[in-house]
Amino acid sequence: MQVTEHIHAIKIPFQIPIGPQLLLDRFVYAFLIYGSRICLIDTGVNSAETIIFDYLRKTGRRPEEIDMIILTHSHPDHIGAARFIKEATGCIIAAHPGEKNWIEDVDLQCRERPVPGFHSLVGGSVDINHLVEEGDILELGDGLSLEVFHTPGHSKGSISVWFPTDKALFCGDAVPLPGDLPIYDDYEASVSSIMKLKSLAGIHTLLSAWDDPREGDNVYQLMGDSLSFLQRIHELVAQKVTNDTAPEIMELCRQVVLSLGLPASAATPMLARSLQANLKELGRYDI
Ligand SMILES: [Zn+2]
Repeated sequence: MQVTEHIHAIKIPFQIPIGPQLLLDRFVYAFLIYGSRICLIDTGVNSAETIIFDYLRKTGRRPEEIDMIILTHSHPDHIGAARFIKEATGCIIAAHPGEKNWIEDVDLQCRERPVPGFHSLVGGSVDINHLVEEGDILELGDGLSLEVFHTPGHSKGSISVWFPTDKALFCGDAVPLPGDLPIYDDYEASVSSIMKLKSLAGIHTLLSAWDDPREGDNVYQLMGDSLSFLQRIHELVAQKVTNDTAPEIMELCRQVVLSLGLPASAATPMLARSLQANLKELGRYDI
């Protein structure tokens, strides 16, 4: 769907096998910026190119017009179709140095962060052509440009991208959705990144990978709610480990999930990884 003058959002459904015959329905957004050339922000999972290319054709554009993919980070649902799209279009790929290893070697990523169904979600490793850092400007042609913000926490090289022409901010997975699975490697960095984005004045549209586009007052409202959600999780973890007998990590997950009112299926190793980050902040390296 068209979101602003230049931006189109594409919702890509996928499933994660979280147990025997148990599939978790998820979705991820990829975004197209239409100028004289086309920029794709994140690619969705393996095979998502079919959805993206169909959308391009339906709106009178061609896949070959994609000349750059920006990967907000390396996780499977963001890079899954990158290899195929790069091969099909000859575009360049831009990402932060902190994500380079996991994008260029997905087997390494799978060993270090084994998401269930990893290899069905990712179409393969892909080389980055352009490493981007905080403050970098990416020219899209015709006077259109993007500014890069380093927003770590969800992962160490996560970036957000500001598109001033349409007053739109692409934040990848940097802003956890209240009531959804909170996923981060570094709690403190995650909070700082959301605060950094929240201090950016004049955002009209927020384009998060795991949320429908938000507009107007809802943009800053969501970022505030997200901060409160993370703080609540941190407080819950702190409460549950104050005793001498701290719960085992998956038991801690189950307790936090229950307190947050999330479905029991949310107590996954992914969430455990987030809570480990909270424990680290609490000085509980030994748990
Ligand atoms: Zn992610």
